[in-house]
Amino acid sequence: MHAFHLIAFAWLGALHAVAASPAHANPRANVDWESFGFGLNDVRTDKMWLDRVTVEVGKENEGASAYSSSEDECLVPLGNLELSPTATVLNYGQALFEGLKACRREDGSIAIFRPEKNGERMAKGAARFFLPPIPSDVFVGAVDSVVRANAQWVPPHGKGALYLRPLLIGSGEGLGVKPSTESTFCIYCSPVGNYFKGGLKAIRLQAVRGFSRAAPGGAGSIKASGNYAPAFLVQRQVRQRGFDEVLCLDALTGQAVEEAGASNFFAVFPDGTIVTPSLQEETILPGVTRASIFELAAAECGLKPVQRRLALEELRSAKEAFCCGTGACITPVGSVHIADCGGEPSDQEIVFGDGESPGPMTEKLYHMLTGIQTGSNKELAEKYSHWIHVVEP
Ligand SMILES: *Cc1c(COP(=O)(O)O)cnc(C)c1O
Repeated sequence: MHAFHLIAFAWLGALHAVAASPAHANPRANVDWESFGFGLNDVRTDKMWLDRVTVEVGKENEGASAYSSSEDECLVPLGNLELSPTATVLNYGQALFEGLKACRREDGSIAIFRPEKNGERMAKGAARFFLPPIPSDVFVGAVDSVVRANAQWVPPHGKGALYLRPLLIGSGEGLGVKPSTESTFCIYCSPVGNYFKGGLKAIRLQAVRGFSRAAPGGAGSIKASGNYAPAFLVQRQVRQRGFDEVLCLDALTGQAVEEAGASNFFAVFPDGTIVTPSLQEETILPGVTRASIFELAAAECGLKPVQRRLALEELRSAKEAFCCGTGACITPVGSVHIADCGGEPSDQEIVFGDGESPGPMTEKLYHMLTGIQTGSNKELAEKYSHWIHVVEP
């Protein structure tokens, strides 16, 4: 009897200890969170993760165990990296990046959306780029540490997120065109505002014939840094012509839709199918948001999700279209304009709905996904709790 009481007391004590465990730092005072857009805002977060490991030549893909998971070793003040001008990353673009977000939930806890997916994607890219892949648990642990160390920079509930940017680069010296002898894994972060302030707004895309971002057999399915700068010029031209973003067409035929900027593309058709371009040719980035929407569309919206080739012309019969990615979550697409290579405006424009308001499924999916990510939709957040990584204080 006595022993039982003692155990019960110890158990209650443990419960009490959990309830009273230290909470995350509150959002930093005197910060105008509402003023933040989506971008590197004018604040300096406190800590970054930095781990440099030596790569044994010929054993790049086996070198995974070299990465540290120690906060003492890898959490350092945010600062510049020192690199030799001969570093492989600078000369040959041996570089990968990731992007994910941490949100403060209503109860003050902090949640990260599916970080293991980003870890798996970076590990795949690392194998292709001859960098030692980071084991998933080390990746998630590092992300977790960076969030905890910068908890005061996680905006208040509903006012944005802490955006995390992991980098994996070949930082060793060398002149020959060959993989690096050193790998640097770094994670920095920055608070970002909500992409949409006061309601979803549809964007206008322009598909530019003759421009493609990825070809079969290339590295389009990898979040490789070198995939992005080649689109800067066409992006600028498209914006100068009054559109928001480039809609990339396939390299082989120029007739199929691939993705838009750094986000995946979906179209909703009157027969209840929701189509996103297939990953089969490895020209499309396998987005975590894309995969999540694919699941939600079937399980929660009664739609039939399909991955296949999506011809530009088919969009004429679509009811709704949207882009998706970690940054904006879901961005409704109001119209797609088709331009020739020289940018000569043609008069071909495909408009969805009234060209301005988000379609009903787009809006529904947006609220579902953000409701899960921020925990504001209690029921769905519970159902999809396996998508949420809670950062322990
Ligand atoms: C990052 C990215 C996406 C979106 O991926 P998420 O994992 O959903 O953020 C889509 N397309 C490209 C080209 C990207 O770089």
